[in-house]
Amino acid sequence: MGKKKQPVKISKSQFSKRDLDICREKLLNLKDDFLKQMKEISEDTLMKTQKDMSGDISGYGLHIADVASDNYERDFNLGLVSNERKIVMDIDEALKRIDENTYGVCHECAKPVAKSRLKAIPYAKYCKKCQEKIESEKNI
Ligand SMILES: [Zn+2]
Repeated sequence: MGKKKQPVKISKSQFSKRDLDICREKLLNLKDDFLKQMKEISEDTLMKTQKDMSGDISGYGLHIADVASDNYERDFNLGLVSNERKIVMDIDEALKRIDENTYGVCHECAKPVAKSRLKAIPYAKYCKKCQEKIESEKNI
C-alpha cells in the first residue's frame, strides 16, 4: 500500500504482444468490413442518384412520394457512410496505438480501458467514464 501515486501519463498497454497481435487482426478485419459496407452503400447511393438524374427524361408516372423517400434514403445512407468513415478513422488510430504499445489505455485519464469494453468496441480510445464525460460535455 505504501506506494507513491504515479503522475498521470499514458502508460504502456496492458496487453501482451500476443494479445496486441490478436487485437490488430480484429481491428483490420473490422476495418475491412466497414470499408466494404461503405463501398456498398456508396455504390447503392450512386446508382440511385443516377436513376434520379435519368428520371428527368424517362421518369413519367413517377410518384412524388417515391422521389421523396428515395431522397430520404440517400440522406440516410450518406449519414451512415460519414459515421462509418469516422469509425474507420478510429480504427486507424487504434492500430497506431497498437504500434506505439499504448493500445487499451484511456487517453483522458491514462488508466487501462476495461477489457470487456475493448471487446465490444476494439477501437475505443477512452474508458467508459471518460467517454461519457466527453459526450456529456459535447451535448452542452
Ligand atoms: Zn478514462
